Amino acid sequence: MRAATVVPGESERAGVSDRPDPVSGQGELLVEGLLVGVCGTDHEVTHGGHGVLPSGASDMVLFHESLGRVLDAPDRSGFSTGDLVVGVVRRPDPVPCGPCAAGEWDYCRNGRYTERGIKALDGYGAQRWTVPTEFAVRVDPGVGELGVLTEPASVVAKAWEQVERISARSVSRPEVALVTGAGPIGLLATLIGVQRGLAVHVLDRVTDGPKPGLVRDLGATYHSSPPTDLEPDVVIECTGVGELVFQVLRGTGPNAITVLTGLSGSQRTLSLAAGALNDELVLDNDVVVGSVNANLRHYRAGADALAAADPDWLGRLLTRRVPLERWTDALQREDDDVKVVVDLH
Ligand code: BGC
Repeated sequence: MRAATVVPGESERAGVSDRPDPVSGQGELLVEGLLVGVCGTDHEVTHGGHGVLPSGASDMVLFHESLGRVLDAPDRSGFSTGDLVVGVVRRPDPVPCGPCAAGEWDYCRNGRYTERGIKALDGYGAQRWTVPTEFAVRVDPGVGELGVLTEPASVVAKAWEQVERISARSVSRPEVALVTGAGPIGLLATLIGVQRGLAVHVLDRVTDGPKPGLVRDLGATYHSSPPTDLEPDVVIECTGVGELVFQVLRGTGPNAITVLTGLSGSQRTLSLAAGALNDELVLDNDVVVGSVNANLRHYRAGADALAAADPDWLGRLLTRRVPLERWTDALQREDDDVKVVVDLH
């Protein structure tokens, strides 16, 4: 079979390799890879800054946003040949720590977790892959190939779960949300916010291309410059831009919850009115929380959000499709890209 392979941080070695077809072990699904989604993490693994080779390996299969079709499933596993499935990214650490032992590997305490296509495990960018049934999530047949959005939707579902759990501290319920960044994560965060009945505002730099229309067609409000008269109860920050993060924290309403989901990857220094920010957080009962990765509960919530969405709207998120043999083209950012996918056929 053919597979998209990388050596983390050595971008000149990114390419397509022949790999032996995998054989499913006990309790595993054998899956035909259909699509993988491309995200910023794949850029970082390829170009440097993130990513670890599997132990003893000379390269690694890339990609963690998967979609495949089951070719073979163990009896009584709950999966059947032909099911569309997505593989979970993270595996618990070997100790395991308390959260990993409880299936909350996204809250791993010792950092010894592994991640497919990112940290010490081959990813899903191959024409065949295997996955233990307990790390596979079924995709609603009506969602079809848009199920490739399940992993990013799971990350966003976790962010919204944090909002929900933190909100349980008082009777104050969030009504207005601000999402910063209208990339795939921001748009899926907007989708879930709208599904939860919040008035959602989205801030992104662009003034044309598909993003403003995608936001408006969800019934949300698009802003290409920071709205001055908005005091959001919830912020889902999806850019990782340091200046914006602190600007947003100064502008939230009382009892606000800000979830940070983006990475900065920058050592730039900012000058900050730290005391004023401290006072605002204290006097407003504000919460700032980071959020990464997702466990099975979040994958299911993400899959449910996709199943409840308008398929035409979701389909507009997949703006570019690149064949496996040319997958490195998918890393070249183009204007109007929202979600780029690699076709594994
Ligand atoms: C993935 C997460 C992963 C994180 C850090 C993100 O792109 O969606 O599942 O935990 O990268 O490696």
